[in-house]
Amino acid sequence: MKYFSTRGGSQELTFEETVLTGLAPNGGLYIPTSIPTLPENWKNDWKEHSFVDLSVAVLSLYISQDEISEVELRKLVVKSYARFRHPEVTPLKKLGDKKYILELWHGPTWAFKDVALQLLGNLFEFFLQRRNEKNLEVNEKLTVVGATSGDTGSAAIYGLRNKTNISIFILHPKGRVSPIQEAQMTTVTDANIHNLAVKGTFDDCQDIVKALFADTKFNAKHHLGAVNSINWARILAQTVYYFFAYFSLHRAVGEADVEVQFVVPTGNFGDILAGYYAKRMGLPMAGKLGVATNANDILARFWKTGRYEKADWSPLDDSPLTQPAAGSSDGKQATQDSNRVKETLSPAMDILISSNFERLLWYLAYENVPEDDSDRRGKAGEIVAGWMSQMKSDGKVEVPTSVLEIARRDFCAERVGDEQILTTIQSHFLGTPSYVVDPHTAVGLFAAERMAQQNTSSVIQVILSTAHPAKFSEAVSAALINTPNFNFENQIMPEEFNGMLQKERRVIDVESADIELVKSIIEARV
Ligand SMILES: *Cc1c(COP(=O)(O)O)cnc(C)c1O
Repeated sequence: MKYFSTRGGSQELTFEETVLTGLAPNGGLYIPTSIPTLPENWKNDWKEHSFVDLSVAVLSLYISQDEISEVELRKLVVKSYARFRHPEVTPLKKLGDKKYILELWHGPTWAFKDVALQLLGNLFEFFLQRRNEKNLEVNEKLTVVGATSGDTGSAAIYGLRNKTNISIFILHPKGRVSPIQEAQMTTVTDANIHNLAVKGTFDDCQDIVKALFADTKFNAKHHLGAVNSINWARILAQTVYYFFAYFSLHRAVGEADVEVQFVVPTGNFGDILAGYYAKRMGLPMAGKLGVATNANDILARFWKTGRYEKADWSPLDDSPLTQPAAGSSDGKQATQDSNRVKETLSPAMDILISSNFERLLWYLAYENVPEDDSDRRGKAGEIVAGWMSQMKSDGKVEVPTSVLEIARRDFCAERVGDEQILTTIQSHFLGTPSYVVDPHTAVGLFAAERMAQQNTSSVIQVILSTAHPAKFSEAVSAALINTPNFNFENQIMPEEFNGMLQKERRVIDVESADIELVKSIIEARV
């Protein structure tokens, strides 16, 4: 299996090159040359598989044996999921006859990004070690640099801690990530982990990281690596839990066939894209894949209008609870400026554009090119390159109706506001069974209710739960504060969080958002 860029060109990469490269030189994202189909007896052969067994079965369809043998792959997968607190890794919980929750947050940082980043860390280490064994004269190293507003940073740090030949530098805006997230990142004191607390905003951090990657000299010297959600290995790792959920649901319902709809709290479109691959491989999904966005609703608007366009929401959409970003001098300005995200109660989904959406656009473009075209793949790449360059220059692009129709065949989408997040957290706490969800999962649950109206009565919904509620104490407390019998410490706080805020920390203060300053820190510690 080889991989090529969504923006065309003849370049084809191995899995290893794809994982180590991240972004294609022409700005595109890598996708597989074909989507593999499932083995003939998969339903029967895989039905009792553990999460690890399923990972090996699914991943090996995308990774050639001569790149990673099945024995090696199994070792990597076992290691990646050994530290998950739940034996099933991603267990399925029943909330109602037609409503299940897939809990994806049993990994080290209590959010779904662990599922992919634990594996990515092991893949990086494996590839580097093998390269260095083959060529004893050089010792290839990787310097991972990333900016975070909270979730990605901690999951990346836990994925890469203690890995041979890898250093990681994570920039966060000082004092602007939640106390739990800050503690999760900075209490990891392994020698290869470097937390940079930058005096500035998340955008400042992001700009510095972009500038570092664009600095060819610096990049070549330090072999910069990326862990953001465009990395193909992250998508691939996430495909597995759609299969796991399908079989778990079979067992729970006790029927030969179930009609399932997955609903996914969505930001950069990585999580739900994995579901699309699962569907294209042949996993039966009776209901459309449900894209659930918060007020940063570029995707929900796409499915409504066919226009992929940066924010056009009016300030009237502001729910009263949404506060302007800490330190932003003028909240109104921030909400009207199409180059800034809107701060919501579900911060991990606060995005301007969705980086992985380009991968779906490629498949939509491809299907829209006539089947008998001898260069169907090349045409699709040209179309996507055109759309993306238009997006860059105009901030918007409109796809033809025929393309929108293809998109609507597989997906539906809903937008959920902060107000609805709060009422959803409350209604599920008061419901039977009582269940506390984090604000991102609440977006999924509320969207699912709306989507259910379009389903036939036999469809069972599986909502992906992307974080543990204790990670987002502010929103959860705001929703439940006036509810009788509610106690955050006793009911929600996991034991493991006790004492975390007091643990030893290691963090480097960066006094100004200055790229040269950050470069010198990296040079000194790598
Ligand atoms: C990253 C994240 C999301 C969004 O996932 P995408 O793959 O970017 O769509 C949702 N919820 C939580 C808690 C996250 O950390």
